[in-house]
Formats: sequence, structure tokens, C-alpha cells
Amino acid sequence: MNKYLFGPVNSRRLGRSLGVDIVPFKTCPLNCVYCECGATTRLTTELSEYVPTEEVVAELDDFLYAGIDLDVVTFSGGGEPTLHSGIGRMISFLKEKYPEYRIAVLTNGVLLWKPEVRRSLEKADIVMPSLDAVGEDAFRKILRPAKGITPGIVVEGIREFRKEFKGSLVIEIFILPGINDSEEELGRIKKACLEINPEKIQLNSLDRPGTESWVVRAGEDRMISIMEYLSPLNVEIIGKSVEKNRHDGNAVAAVDGIKATLLRRPMTIEDLQEYTGYNSKDLVRILEELHDKKIVKVENTPTGSFYRLA
Ligand code: SF4
Repeated sequence: MNKYLFGPVNSRRLGRSLGVDIVPFKTCPLNCVYCECGATTRLTTELSEYVPTEEVVAELDDFLYAGIDLDVVTFSGGGEPTLHSGIGRMISFLKEKYPEYRIAVLTNGVLLWKPEVRRSLEKADIVMPSLDAVGEDAFRKILRPAKGITPGIVVEGIREFRKEFKGSLVIEIFILPGINDSEEELGRIKKACLEINPEKIQLNSLDRPGTESWVVRAGEDRMISIMEYLSPLNVEIIGKSVEKNRHDGNAVAAVDGIKATLLRRPMTIEDLQEYTGYNSKDLVRILEELHDKKIVKVENTPTGSFYRLA
């Protein structure tokens, strides 16, 4: 099983994507109430080489050398990738040796005020920071940030990055009904986005169980009205991926792939089908085995039964 790579999975936003996870699980400058990976255990803004950079580079090289069917290499996972001081070196390596793949970074964006973080991402093709709140109350209630992180420096960091970055900047806004969907808060978010001028905004809402049980999903009508409110910005509501994954029928690889995916986020059988491309019969069999061995557990919620690593 790879240590730092997971997938390829069918990302609903990016297509067929190889995930790269470069910080220890739940190491993050935020402790978002909606985080599908659970509560942050190491709340920090400290940049560091959390895992050996050259080990990640070697694992990427080993994996990509064979030439695989892939759209994008995505830095994401169960923590904040821009905390890793070697991310710039990893991106440079990929750009030089595997220029055929796009590189995406999913980030909470809160460290972009640091010039060294902006520099480290300059060779990526797509950077997707979040901007869930701009008002102080909503910001603190949703993100529960590490000391020193304020809405002002986050907006300023993304704005600076936008000026310098040559690639595509896509902002994600996670809608939490009753917290950041008031006209006042949406007005602040819209104003900040108009100043930043991203290529696109993606609206998201709860899909899998969040860290706090009171977080609920915004209804479809509400999401559409928010999309209209944010006009003339280029906004889309994130939909489920429809593309099916391709796999080689290797049972060990299937189990490892499912474990690596569930390590990072809880999923329903339908989610796993979309992400892995396995049919539901195979998936049920694999999940039952993992459940019997107490490797995965099931969480029944009003939105479905979610599997996660036990
Ligand atoms: S959602 Fe992202 S930014 Fe928020 S706590 Fe989870 S990993 Fe950190």
C-alpha cells in the first residue's frame, strides 16, 4: 500500500485524480465544523517537512513511471497540504518529469498570506482555496481557526495569490444553513470574491457526516438561489461525478484502495462505486469482510449509511 498516494479516484471536481496526502491526518490550521475527516488533532500554522519530501517524490515517481490513465495529480487528504514546506519541490518535480498531468492543490487557503506558501504553489495548474466566511462571527463559528488567523488575512492572502498566480484559481464556498447564508454574510463573501476575481466559484454543502452533528445540508433550491445571488461571478454547484473508474480486478489492490479512500473520508456504497468503479456486489463483499475484521465500521445517518475506517 502506498504511504502518501491514494486512488486514482474519480474526483467530482477534477476528473480522474491521483491523491497525494503529505501531512499527518488532521494536521490543519482549522478545525472546521463540517470536516468529513473528524476533529483536528494538531491545530497549527507551522510550516514544516511533516513527511520526508524525497520519500513522497520517490513514491510519485514509482507510481507514475508506468504511465497510467490519469487527468490530474491532486494534493489533498486528511490535513492541509500547504503546511508542508516541501510541497513546492514536489510540484516542481511533477512539472519537470510528468508534464502531461495537471497539478491541483485543494487548500483551505488560510496560509496564502505567507509569501513562501504562495511561491510554493506557483507552478501548480489549479489551486482551489476555500472562502466560507468573511464576517468574524461566521468565520470563527465554522472554521475554529488556529491563533492569528483572521478573515482579513485570509482574504488578503487569496487576493495576493490571485495577482501572482498564472494558473486557474477556483474558490470553494461551503454553505452552512443559518450560519453563512444570510444576505449580510453572502454580501461580504460576494464583495471579497469580486475583489479576488477567481476563475470560478464552486458551491458545496454537506454530503457526508461532518465533525459536528448539527451541521446540515443546504437544500437544492437554496443553493440555486445563492448561485444566482453571486452573479455575475462564475458559479457552479458541485455535482456528483458520473465517470466510472477503471480497475484491473486485483483483489489486494481493491482492498488497499478502499482502505486508503475510507481513511480520508467516510463514504456510502454508492460513493465508493463512483470513486472506485467496483460493482456493488464486489463492494458489499469486500466491505463485509473488512467489517468482520473490524477494519471498517458503519455509521447510519439520516443521509445514508457511511463506511469509515474503524
Ligand atoms: S475541512 Fe479541510 S480545512 Fe477544514 S478542518 Fe478539515 S482538513 Fe482542515
